[in-house]
Amino acid sequence: MSYQVLARKWRPSNFSQVAGQAHVLKSLINALDNERLHHAYLFTGTRGVGKTTLARILAKCLNCEEGISSVPCEKCGSCTEITEGRFIDLLEIDAASRTKVEDTRELLDNVQYAPSRGRFKVYLIDEVHMLSNHSFNALLKTLEEPPPHVKFLFATTDPQKLPITILSRCLQFNLKNLSPQLISEYLGSVLEKEKLEFEEEALWQIAAAASGSMRDALTLADQAISYCEGQVATDGVIQMLGVPPQKQVYELLKGMASRSVSIILELIRDIAEQTPDYGHTLDSLLSTLHRVAIAQIEPKAADNSYGDMPQILELASLISAEDVQLYYQMGIKGREDLRLSAEVRTAFEMLLIRMLVFSPGYVDRTNIEAGASSDSSTNNESSGATESEKKKNKLTVEIVSAQQLEEPEPERMSEEAIEVSPEAPTDIEAEQSSDTEHERC
Ligand SMILES: [Zn+2]
Repeated sequence: MSYQVLARKWRPSNFSQVAGQAHVLKSLINALDNERLHHAYLFTGTRGVGKTTLARILAKCLNCEEGISSVPCEKCGSCTEITEGRFIDLLEIDAASRTKVEDTRELLDNVQYAPSRGRFKVYLIDEVHMLSNHSFNALLKTLEEPPPHVKFLFATTDPQKLPITILSRCLQFNLKNLSPQLISEYLGSVLEKEKLEFEEEALWQIAAAASGSMRDALTLADQAISYCEGQVATDGVIQMLGVPPQKQVYELLKGMASRSVSIILELIRDIAEQTPDYGHTLDSLLSTLHRVAIAQIEPKAADNSYGDMPQILELASLISAEDVQLYYQMGIKGREDLRLSAEVRTAFEMLLIRMLVFSPGYVDRTNIEAGASSDSSTNNESSGATESEKKKNKLTVEIVSAQQLEEPEPERMSEEAIEVSPEAPTDIEAEQSSDTEHERC
């Protein structure tokens, strides 16, 4: 028998198998059990969260030969045919490839005829936002008052693109992105049923990389199984994804807390050896900073969805709340730098150095070191100068990054390096340049 990918093999065939989305399931189950059925449903959410799956299960619930129910029998002809994707009264249309008004008219011409086999004729239109305006207009009349034997199920990743006239005629269900915890638990259960060995940490890595999409997670798991030769091991998954382990993100943040540029550069050197995705590393860094900020302000609300509470609490005690906010803000802006830069690693290094040198604690320390040799009165003066100097620096960076947005030139990076660090100790520049030289070789 040919191999069936995990995402297809383990596609839920009834509501009880669906992972997450409890809020949507509750409304659908109540509606089905009380037979309070609407004629048009719209499922929205990002890719791979279960829109089409839910729509297919709903079609099965509506057409099960045992009667309308939230628990279809899964044995009758209609149920099995829907599961196998060959039920004649479930018409699946991909709107992306049939955007024209002629296509919609052709579809609607058949609406009036009774279903040939089932109780309802179900039109499942995927990526419905891709239809043209004329198509939407052609659809409106039927959608307002469809024949009693017709149900419309729409799915879209982009509900904002739907005309309000369509939206107001549908019951809308917003599917949520799935949490890493939910994804890793689900992956664990699937791998157990597949009798494959796995490591917990590997599943967390896959869950993080899937960013809320179960289909992506299952596809990555498939990839990991072939990469790691029949199991899902942490080392293999990390090599495959190019993601630094979460541990490296903690180490980076600890380095930031100790305000040591040399530690940070060394860590980036380690990361660089693993064909990394710096955008992903930055995203992990930002999401960790977010959780650290919550742990500082409201420890009870801290999120343990990655099972790493001790590390988060440690970071919360090491980094000041102001620094966490500053790093986060700079990190968000820095994502653009990574995209624009010709050398992603350089942009990533610059970003972390920028976070450090702009941290108030860092300026104070260099100030104290500078002021140690002079007397107290000049020290006061110099601290005032530092404050205005700091503001000036901030302004320069904003201007420089604004210019970068307009015309991304590699030279800007070096210009920025000089502008940013008049206060910074010279060893930063030395290390930075020796590092780039090393890279050129
Ligand atoms: Zn059935």
